[in-house]
Amino acid sequence: MVRLLIASSNPGKLREIRALLDIPGLVAVDPTMIGIRSQVDETGDQYADNAHLKASISARASGIWTLADDSGLEVDVLGGAPGPRSARLGGPGTSDAVRRRLLLEKLRPHPQPWTARFRCVVALASPEGEVDLADGTCLGEIIATERGSAGFGYDPIFLIQGTDYTMAELSLEEKNRLSHRAKAIKTLLPTLKNRLGLVGRDWGQGSGNGD
Ligand code: IMP
Repeated sequence: MVRLLIASSNPGKLREIRALLDIPGLVAVDPTMIGIRSQVDETGDQYADNAHLKASISARASGIWTLADDSGLEVDVLGGAPGPRSARLGGPGTSDAVRRRLLLEKLRPHPQPWTARFRCVVALASPEGEVDLADGTCLGEIIATERGSAGFGYDPIFLIQGTDYTMAELSLEEKNRLSHRAKAIKTLLPTLKNRLGLVGRDWGQGSGNGD
């Protein structure tokens, strides 16, 4: 089995990424399982820079291949904000619920629809410093009233384009069919399998995540 570190302490992200990487031969571990810190200062203003930084620092610290994501919500009427700063809206210690309220307060003076997109860049890094990137986008709009209780972050106020569902009204499996994170990881998957030597090996029937 090959171990892959998921460099995140966000339980929502970890749940989604683990499910997306449930592939034979691979064991996804998180920072707490191997006793390292996943917190890296996000100094970049670009998703790619932050994902690159998070993955490469954690890969070097752990000595194993590492995947990190940087993601955010971009609202057109706010010029793409909060974007890469989505997790920092309201400052340290702010809850997801308060962040959603703060975002809605900023949007209230503007006419609807509040078109928006989720974006995600994933980075795969080796302990030696090689890095591969992939990105994904999910289009939608922000709605004024929360709907649904699944997911995390801005999911309850994000209505997915072409559907009548918010992200928080989807099951994990459904979100992993169309989210920005799912698209980015699915794009990266062939490279990941190659890099980790998972191509063309017979792993039998078992899943890789300890089942
Ligand atoms: P970061 O990638 O750690 O900078 O955090 C990204 C932030 O963007 C999260 O804390 C959420 O606030 C928001 N975000 C990113 N992806 C999602 C998602 O799938 N659903 C809801 N909010 C998200």
